[in-house]
Amino acid sequence: MITYIGLGSNLYQPAQQLKMALEGIARIPQSELLKVSSFYQSKALTLADSKAQNDYINAVVMLQTDLTAIQLLSELQAIEDQQGRIRTEKWSARTLDLDILLFGEQIIATNSLQVPHTQLAFRNFVIHPLFEIAGDINIPGQGALATLAGQTDWSGLNKLQRDCSHA
Ligand code: ATP
Ligand code: CA
Ligand code: CA
Repeated sequence: MITYIGLGSNLYQPAQQLKMALEGIARIPQSELLKVSSFYQSKALTLADSKAQNDYINAVVMLQTDLTAIQLLSELQAIEDQQGRIRTEKWSARTLDLDILLFGEQIIATNSLQVPHTQLAFRNFVIHPLFEIAGDINIPGQGALATLAGQTDWSGLNKLQRDCSHA
């Protein structure tokens, strides 16, 4: 199955968090990492009176896998746990978010897993990186990704140079 995974981080050197996550994803069993998008910087959505949040770094990858979607989710959660979480005494901030965006053209609607990702069509930091590496795909229930990308603005979103170690 061809699957697309969204990566995001806005804590503790986000670009480094994503690079570590890519190494973890490349080691997922029975799978092959086929494509990696550029890194994108995006503004965190915040409430008017809440404290400013760091910008996010986002990316999308294409993975070929023989795992089931549930098995893949558990592999991704293990990477979030092992490499994404900074363990402090006071709190355990989530520094890494790995979402299954698409799993072939399957539609999955269970308690623990909804695919396509429910927010995919509404998030420019998902649509544009996905379009970069998968220009000609269809999204079940949405139609051509190219059409969706054409309708999706770039507000708060910046495509970064391939090596964004300073981001
Ligand atoms: P959002 O879904 O708005 O991006 P989030 O990524 O911050 O929110 P999490 O706290 O990371 O949400 O995930 C909560 C739960 O979402 C996970 O434990 C998982 O079971 C479930 N989930 C449902 N669909 C998916 C999916 N397509 N990819 C990853 N997790 C999913
Ligand atoms: Ca998410
Ligand atoms: Ca998530």
